[in-house]
Amino acid sequence: GVLMAKSKFEYVRNFEADDTCLPHCWVVVRLDGRSFHRFAEKHNFVKPNDSRALHLMTKCAQTVMEELEDIVIAYGQSDEYSFVFKQKSNWFKRRASKFMTHVASQFASSYVFYWRDYFEDQPLLYPPGFDGRVVLYPSNQTLKDYLSWRQADCHINNLYNTVYWTLIQQSGLTPEQAQERLKGTLAADKNEILFSQFNVNYNNEPPMYRKGTVLIWQKVDEVMTKEVKLPAEIEGKKMAVTRTRMRPVPLHCDIIGDAFWKEHPEILD
Ligand code: ATP
Ligand code: ATP
Ligand code: MG
Ligand code: MG
Ligand code: MG
Ligand code: MG
Repeated sequence: GVLMAKSKFEYVRNFEADDTCLPHCWVVVRLDGRSFHRFAEKHNFVKPNDSRALHLMTKCAQTVMEELEDIVIAYGQSDEYSFVFKQKSNWFKRRASKFMTHVASQFASSYVFYWRDYFEDQPLLYPPGFDGRVVLYPSNQTLKDYLSWRQADCHINNLYNTVYWTLIQQSGLTPEQAQERLKGTLAADKNEILFSQFNVNYNNEPPMYRKGTVLIWQKVDEVMTKEVKLPAEIEGKKMAVTRTRMRPVPLHCDIIGDAFWKEHPEILD
């Protein structure tokens, strides 16, 4: 306020570090759940993939995209989500701490706020937290490689976890035995174990588990009910009205190859 602006204490503001993000770069904020290995255990997450938890993560990411400015794409898997701010964003004068803390706090409060919608009969036992980091990518290629890296990570972890938990849940192996069985195996070996021992074709596992979740802005037709104003005979009655709005829409597709970027050139514009 005006009255407080010029006290003799004002000089301490100059102790604040300048954390302006370099111009022209893509600004990526990645969040990751704090100690979610424990959180998943305490809240009885289904192993290896609890779809309630994944859908809740995506709901939180959609809330972040709707509430904050300038996010063009987000990618999530496991307990993490990455948000990409457009190159020319000048939101909060590109201050890294503002980007990071607004994303992290909006996400964390949404996680608690929407918990019950996804975990109906599983109470939330303690307040979860998320760490955040900011990384700048100077070109479209480095940004695409960043997102490819996260999706490749999703694939590697999910293939491992799928075999690991199948060995435990269906063959009765102990965690130690399952780990021992998988030591030194390549992707092809893991696919083979799933197929020959359990008749599971890994490629038929749900795309949300194998590919993670991409959120991009797309036009969506939304039906809403609206009170009729006129004419007088029907005033006050409710009518269904369809509106087209831009919404962050979840996809579970490959983002490593060129096809995705050719199909959605507007994301990198
Ligand atoms: P920004 O997002 O830039 O921080 P802001 O609206 O939060 O915008 P602040 O300068 O942080 O602006 O001011 C917080 C405002 O919130 C106060 O001006 C006041 O209107 C309101 N507010 C905060 N705490 C209280 C409180 N305990 N009682 C009444 N009003 C409050
Ligand atoms: P840190 O605080 O260092 O991030 P962490 O325990 O969260 O520690 P991560 O490497 O982030 O470690 O791994 C997250 C863990 O959370 C996974 O290994 C898995 O055990 C669990 N997890 C997260 N999401 C799910 C899910 N949807 N279904 C089942 N388990 C999950
Ligand atoms: Mg970690
Ligand atoms: Mg974590
Ligand atoms: Mg993680
Ligand atoms: Mg404020």
